[in-house]
Amino acid sequence: MAETNNHPPLDGNALVALSLRRAGVDRMFGVVGIPVTALATRAVTLGVRFVAFHNEQSAGYAASAYGYLTGRPGILLTVSGPGCVHGLAGVSNAAVNAWPMIMISGSCDQGYFGRGDFQELDQVEAVKPFSKLSVRVRDIKEVPRCVFEVIRKAASGRPGGCYLDLPTDVLHQTVSEAEAEELLVEAEKGVEKEVIGIVGQSEIGKAVSLLRHAERPLIVFGKGAAIARAENGLKKLVETTGIPFLPTPMGKGLLPDTHELAATAARSLAIGKCDVALVVGARLNWLLHFGEPPKWSKDVKFILVDISKEEIELRKPCLGLVGDAAKVVEMINKEIKDDPFCLGKTHPWVEAIQKKANENVSKMEAQLAKDVVPFNFLTPMRIIRDAILGVGSPAPIVVSEGANTMDVGRSVLVQTEPRTRLDAGTWGTMGVGLGYCIAAAVASPDRLVVAVEGDSGFGFSAMEVEVVDVDGEVRTLVRYQLPVVVIVFNNGGVYGGDRRSPEEITGPFKDDPAPTSFVPGAAYHLLIEAFGGKGYLVGTPDELKSALTESFAARKPAVINVTIDPYAGAESGRLQHKN
Ligand code: ADP
Repeated sequence: MAETNNHPPLDGNALVALSLRRAGVDRMFGVVGIPVTALATRAVTLGVRFVAFHNEQSAGYAASAYGYLTGRPGILLTVSGPGCVHGLAGVSNAAVNAWPMIMISGSCDQGYFGRGDFQELDQVEAVKPFSKLSVRVRDIKEVPRCVFEVIRKAASGRPGGCYLDLPTDVLHQTVSEAEAEELLVEAEKGVEKEVIGIVGQSEIGKAVSLLRHAERPLIVFGKGAAIARAENGLKKLVETTGIPFLPTPMGKGLLPDTHELAATAARSLAIGKCDVALVVGARLNWLLHFGEPPKWSKDVKFILVDISKEEIELRKPCLGLVGDAAKVVEMINKEIKDDPFCLGKTHPWVEAIQKKANENVSKMEAQLAKDVVPFNFLTPMRIIRDAILGVGSPAPIVVSEGANTMDVGRSVLVQTEPRTRLDAGTWGTMGVGLGYCIAAAVASPDRLVVAVEGDSGFGFSAMEVEVVDVDGEVRTLVRYQLPVVVIVFNNGGVYGGDRRSPEEITGPFKDDPAPTSFVPGAAYHLLIEAFGGKGYLVGTPDELKSALTESFAARKPAVINVTIDPYAGAESGRLQHKN
């Protein structure tokens, strides 16, 4: 195409980068290579921070978590074929968690498709089942429109993953700068945001009436409320009505775990006995026992607040309020303001929850107070909890994965601020840890990031410690200088030591280690030292405390390898019934 105004024409890579920038993208995660290296380089020149990973899977997890933490789609860039397939892990994780994310992949030349081109795959079809929108750009002139479309789609309505396919031939086409500008302006006006109908006032009135007349009301909130930033409204609702609340694992922190109306430590009582439950931005899926007996009372009346009409139709609650959680909660608060009600501290329901919570906390604290060496899970978790609380505000973002490590961490670690917990989520995805750490540090540069993970979870993506690593001496080796401390609970395997009975140790490979075993005493802390970072090996309370103090103060990447008794945990953690 013709060159105008002496400016060189833009090729596809440059136009994608420019379109992303114009759509507000300023962070990207990915792995470069054919045919998208120039896209990443060009994006950086336009002011986008490109965080380069070793593996698309971790980069995809990072993009998904970045979307959750910021509310803006996280962007993953991959190469074609296998790069796209690795990236599917991130897109599917985003879809299942309802987090906004976009995977952008290079793909083979359209002219050779079907004839065995380099890294050929029908990527649009491959990604479709996991995405809200999966589009191929067929011509460079479609670039701005397609970029704006996936960005708006990913964050509208129920958030999720979208996919943008960039064939090599499109990346090599060119347009003049003037034409690019016209296309961009058109795209900016183009696609409208999905319109979410906001619930009517009469529905709000019904919800308030149900809560007002309930004997044992409960407010449950999850990561949908977190993404909606509904924390201020929820705090007001809880505090004006005196209704106890229960966060889901990633809802933790929207209100502090230490709040006097927190029912977390009395979870079974709260969900088993409540008669009206207002559930905000949380699905009645396996994590909430499908809202069914025996965990819930069969007569409980659910009021569901969700941005997805389909979600509400699926669950068939007593009352469904479709809309953004922050807006709906605000409407509820307004309605209550005209005729306030409050259970009060001496209300039998509030008293019962607080009594149970206090009893359970005392029991747990008695266990936690013991210094058990070799370490069980509780002793190091207590030390880590206290160190994290000692940081104060802004509170660190805690990344948690692993069966026993995550289960114990969920009960022991204390969340005091919104969106400060990232874990295996709706899918129970293991291997997300390093990607989430990097996303958290990029999304919230003022916060320390602390990962508390099992050795198995860590191992999925341990090489990514190089991304968080720093070498202040040699400028060219400095990567991203992210303040991430990874604490590995090392019990020598998936769930820990070999738990097979003697009858199970048979057959021609009986002398092999158990399928659950890793190398005992693996020196995970040395991995980060390979890149010039700081590693610690600890096995006693004093060693752990000292490593935490030093690494938290340094705000530099570190790996703390904590030796745990291989038989301290349980197989499948707390999900043994599913095994
Ligand atoms: P948790 O794992 O914390 O229980 P889920 O991921 O199961 O939470 O549920 C989150 C829900 O929040 C999803 O059904 C999603 O549609 C919904 N959601 C996402 N964004 C919003 C929003 N802005 N307002 C209300 N609901 C939302």
